Amino acid sequence: MNSPKRYTITAALPYTNGPIHIGHLAGVYVPADIYARFMRMQGREVAFVCGSDEHGVPITIKAKKEGVSPQDVVDKYHKIIKESFEDFGISFDNYSRTSAEVHHKTASEFFKKLYDAGKFTEETTQQLYDEKAEQFLADRFVVGTCPKCGYEESYGDQCEKCGTSHNATDLINPKSAITGSKPVLKETRHWFLPLDQYESWLNEWILEGHKKDWKSNVYGQVKSWIDDGLRPRAVTRDLDWGIPVPVEGGEGKVLYVWFDAPIGYISSTKEWAEKTGKDWEPFWKNEDTKLVHFIGKDNIVFHCVIFPAMLKAEGSYVLPENVPANEFLNLEGNKLSTSKNWAVWLHEYLEEFPGQQDVLRYALTANAPETKDNDFTWKDFQARNNNELVAIFGNFINRVVVLTNKYYDGIVPEPGEFSEVDEQTLAELKAYPAVIASSIERYRFREAQGELMNVARLGNKYLADEEPWKLIKTDEERVKTIMYVALQIASALASLSEPFLPYTAEKLKRMLDYGKASSEATAVAFEGDSGENEWEQINKESSLVPEGHQIGKGELLFSKVEDEQIQKQLDKLEATKAANIADNKKAEPQKEIATFEDFSKMDLRVGTIVEAGKMPKANKLLVLKVDTGLDVRTIVSGIAESFKPEDIIGKKVTVLVNLAPRKLRGVESEGMILMTENADGKLVFLNPDEDGVKNGTVIS
Ligand SMILES: [Zn+2]
Repeated sequence: MNSPKRYTITAALPYTNGPIHIGHLAGVYVPADIYARFMRMQGREVAFVCGSDEHGVPITIKAKKEGVSPQDVVDKYHKIIKESFEDFGISFDNYSRTSAEVHHKTASEFFKKLYDAGKFTEETTQQLYDEKAEQFLADRFVVGTCPKCGYEESYGDQCEKCGTSHNATDLINPKSAITGSKPVLKETRHWFLPLDQYESWLNEWILEGHKKDWKSNVYGQVKSWIDDGLRPRAVTRDLDWGIPVPVEGGEGKVLYVWFDAPIGYISSTKEWAEKTGKDWEPFWKNEDTKLVHFIGKDNIVFHCVIFPAMLKAEGSYVLPENVPANEFLNLEGNKLSTSKNWAVWLHEYLEEFPGQQDVLRYALTANAPETKDNDFTWKDFQARNNNELVAIFGNFINRVVVLTNKYYDGIVPEPGEFSEVDEQTLAELKAYPAVIASSIERYRFREAQGELMNVARLGNKYLADEEPWKLIKTDEERVKTIMYVALQIASALASLSEPFLPYTAEKLKRMLDYGKASSEATAVAFEGDSGENEWEQINKESSLVPEGHQIGKGELLFSKVEDEQIQKQLDKLEATKAANIADNKKAEPQKEIATFEDFSKMDLRVGTIVEAGKMPKANKLLVLKVDTGLDVRTIVSGIAESFKPEDIIGKKVTVLVNLAPRKLRGVESEGMILMTENADGKLVFLNPDEDGVKNGTVIS
């Protein structure tokens, strides 16, 4: 294999404003861990790094809400998150935090270097300012309508709906997330990374260089941004929580969180190197190093455009080889949401299913949102456990260990002549390491785990067909050969399952007294090239567990998940749903007083929708032609998820006709149709008699 020998593997730094849930695990941390464990088993040098992202506006907002300091918030969640990762066997070589001194120093120096080299532009611009809160509104301090897709809750720096990254001043109808008031524009001075200057380089490096090896969902997003044209991007903010801007004129300003966060991968590597006496630089600066970023799709722009441009500007770092971003995982058909408590929290899962980390890892990988959003359901979780882990993997191992102990006091028997079936089975077994490796190397973890389960299926079928429990009465010699072959498959499973099911692998190795986890001197040693490459060992001619080797006692690998356990989880989600609906029924607080003059400025007319069609490539937008009595005009409305175009033609609606025209996706919208929503949160045309519209529901 001519792959690089050194791997720097990063997993997205989690925001330290809440605990970790299954969506995080499925999207980022389990795949990253499978990859890191696999590479270590191949004898590669691996730095698998991560850390808590402790800056950024969500933390300040959370602190304000809870009446504590931002430091209190990050201390609390850093601890919970770190423990969750440890509990689920995410094998980081280092888990740091961006409040660490080494990070502040690294990020400051990085900024200073680019500043000194003249890589930034400095500009005084008008930025959104909340007069009530007396502060500038950056990033998540402001929400408004996304200029690209029309999503109404887009943040100042990024739209979570379409993933587009933009400047806060691009938002349509911006609103302060702190006070709810309409921001004003105020002058402020900032440093910008001129992304436009990197456009042709990005074009060459990603669009031409990585067309084939990057995932299509990642490549497609990056292409659409580059095709739209990149603009200079402010890398400093008027905030007080973060890393101070280390240059003249930077007083009262901090680095933009997405400038400092990815540098956190470098600081985490430095921290690790310091602890272990290694040199960090080859992991970031040597051409023989493969840098791979594991992230969720909401972070693509930062890892594929902004961070690489920063690295390129700095000049001495390697660039990411791949950014295998995943799509999102949903839970029982709904979007996972921290604020709505629609999640399976890792610390809670372990209380309900103690010792069953691998079951969740397995179910999440089997259903990983690798190419499209996917759904986690408790029924699927139960089925994956009971029908696959228990019935196939667990059943096979249990038979092998129990029968070997029963027939031979746990000593691997001497095989006789192999039958054709034996030869075929062993040949098939030897092919799996390369098959699984190839899937992992192409970031297809779902497929890789499927192949692992096929190894267990191979063993299960072999025993079921050969029936040693029947033959033992008539042909004892043949049973020795069968059990010998079955023991080789069981041992291969112990190695091959390690990246996916680390706890199971460890248990299995203990049971077979095989490999690293074995306790005694009799343990089978690995003889691969690096001395212990157990993966390649499977493919060698020699046996994995030789005759005469003593295995240990059987332990239960997996246990059945009962219907009651699943019902309990479903009931818990039902209760969350009921609580959210009760919350929704509370009317929003009244807005500021409007004078009669304010009101009379609005020109409201009755109109009829005469044409309706979907806006291409926008999930929420419909393009309508409305007869207002004055004219027939175009109105773009964010109602596509609630109505089919053909159902609303001919509908009478209330139209605000003198709203300043605005362009949405290149189509000029001349007015607004008044809507409200029913108790399920579905948009309905303004008609208070409509079923389910509650008193106090806002018309907008
Ligand atoms: Zn958007």
